[in-house]
Amino acid sequence: MTAAFLDAAAAVVGAENVSRTDDVDDYLDAYALGEPRKFLPGGAVRPADTAEVQAVVRLANEFGVAVWPIGRGKNLGYGGSAPRQSGTVILDLGRMNSVLHVDEETAYAIVEPGVSFFDLFDDLRRRGSRLWASVPDLGWGSVVGNALERGYGYTAHGDHQQFVCGMEVVLPTGELIRTGMGALPGSETWALYRGGFGPGFEGLFLQSNLGIVTKMGVWLMPRPERFAACRIAVDSEEALPQLVDAMRELKLDGTIDGVVNAANAVGIAAGMAPRERWYSGDGVVPPDVARVIADDLGLGMWNVKCALYGSDALLDVKLEKLQRTIDAIPGSRVVVNRYDGDTDPAAVEPGDHFAAGIPGMLLAGGVRWRANGPTGAHIGLCPVSPLTGTHVARASKLMRDHIEAAGFDYIGGWLATGRHAINVLMIFFDAADPVESEKVRRAFAELVPILAAHGYGEYRAHIEFMDLVAEQFSWNDSSLLEFNRTLKRALDPNGILAPGKQGVWP
Ligand code: ADP
Repeated sequence: MTAAFLDAAAAVVGAENVSRTDDVDDYLDAYALGEPRKFLPGGAVRPADTAEVQAVVRLANEFGVAVWPIGRGKNLGYGGSAPRQSGTVILDLGRMNSVLHVDEETAYAIVEPGVSFFDLFDDLRRRGSRLWASVPDLGWGSVVGNALERGYGYTAHGDHQQFVCGMEVVLPTGELIRTGMGALPGSETWALYRGGFGPGFEGLFLQSNLGIVTKMGVWLMPRPERFAACRIAVDSEEALPQLVDAMRELKLDGTIDGVVNAANAVGIAAGMAPRERWYSGDGVVPPDVARVIADDLGLGMWNVKCALYGSDALLDVKLEKLQRTIDAIPGSRVVVNRYDGDTDPAAVEPGDHFAAGIPGMLLAGGVRWRANGPTGAHIGLCPVSPLTGTHVARASKLMRDHIEAAGFDYIGGWLATGRHAINVLMIFFDAADPVESEKVRRAFAELVPILAAHGYGEYRAHIEFMDLVAEQFSWNDSSLLEFNRTLKRALDPNGILAPGKQGVWP
């Protein structure tokens, strides 16, 4: 069936844009836990435009072959390009990589699904635009894929899902819709007003297997007059709750504009050099070595970076408030770099790029922490908790105790927009070592229900754990999962779109 489907798809997209079942190495999970071919794509199809996506989706229905859309396939740590169910054909949207429109006045862009953060940045520079996009840690992923997966960057627009407005979507049957105001022919406000007329459906296509997004509106941030990249450090683990509470207040009262990003000292070190630079003993990095690492790199045990925007006068006021709030935490310090909004990106310190949405690959080295070679890998466990010191410290301790007992360093962090924390546990491991991979799998599988029992659910999950995470959302006889299944049956009767994504099976 798959071979016949790929033949038919080749007639639509061209034979050179189809990869056969024996030629899918580019679409494997680069950071697989153990067996790299466990989630094996059945092939790949690379359409050039929306009409080709529709035609391929119709063929998928006809041949009963499932497809799994990807933008740039860099969702590493969550499965990369690989599908949840082996045999699913990758629908690689990477050729659809145009920035279709940039509106300087009302500050938005409409992008295709293959546009990377580097592409959007370069496009805006080329146009001489006054607009900034927010970027995640690594710039090679797609603007659309990252927003659909509810990813984060660090400017004032860093909560990416919140800045999506207007989608064009190919439904699992091949039909095409535009959401909200986009349904009005000649609409002037598709990417400006979220409401439309009637229910809003954009949320339906986030982390979803109900549609393929072929165009998306994304709100951009007018370049500020000045910006400040701030770094806050606290010298002890014990100061974590106070730091969290301080950041919450500074977010809720509007002092800090950007998404708050916190990391422990070992976590930042991992992005800079392999572990043996500091420690090559048995077991996890002990607390005294963690302290040496922090001192060596001029870090605290916990470290926050965040961005503020405005005129100098406004920044003076905000930074005075921030300094005063942080000064109340024993063993704390603040370092601030200010820039003009129109500073040439080359003149912004690499460590401050996050504040100006300058894309890079600075943190890609983290995977070499335990495996200083090509087989270094990572997986992320990200429970969501309230943004209070008590909760973040609890989530952190649960994850630290468990992962250290399994023999892995606690690489921890949290992201905050005001009310909740995305508590990130980054596990670095050697994908070539089956014993190590198995330990990661076991620790991860044990932690998910432990965290759920404390009221913390994951916001995102590797394909390996999608079912396990989905199972935790079981309130009222799993009525939400049942609702998801009802929608899936109605919109995708043949079950051809991304089966198993987020635990939703046809
Ligand atoms: P990135 O481009 O950041 O590398 P991916 O391409 O791997 O991210 O996309 C991440 C996930 O988001 C995919 O596995 C898929 O489930 C979903 N996704 C990506 N692009 C689309 C799209 N255009 N429509 C629907 N889902 C998508």
